[in-house]
Amino acid sequence: MTQACIFCKIIAGDIPAKLIYEDDAMLAFHDISPVAPTHILVIPRKHIAGPAALTQADETLMGKMVNLGNDLAAKAGLQDGFRLVMNNGESAGQTVFHLHLHVLGGRVMTWPPG
Ligand code: 5GP
Ligand code: ZN
Repeated sequence: MTQACIFCKIIAGDIPAKLIYEDDAMLAFHDISPVAPTHILVIPRKHIAGPAALTQADETLMGKMVNLGNDLAAKAGLQDGFRLVMNNGESAGQTVFHLHLHVLGGRVMTWPPG
């Protein structure tokens, strides 16, 4: 638990979130400011600042997060296509410095990303 971290506060139940899934390692909830019809965030309970802070010890956790993202995309009916995104650092658009996987879908995505 990192005091000022908004996602740690969601994990602790100190601020509400529209929870979709939780287990002993991860939570998934709806993004408060969705940029696609489906916009889910998958986060680990463990505070990790972002993708670049991952270590070898987190490899199983990362695999679980991606598998959960895939499962939730399928449950949301996104078989036609979806995007899994992790931003690292301010210039990449990271605003919350607790690791999270965006699950985005329900509209046509463009490439390259902005
Ligand atoms: P980032 O920009 O760091 O990749 O993504 C952070 C995401 O967290 C953003 O899409 C933002 O809308 C979402 N977010 C920020 N604060 C909250 C919150 O309090 N609750 C929820 N559900 N999502 C949040
Ligand atoms: Zn945190």
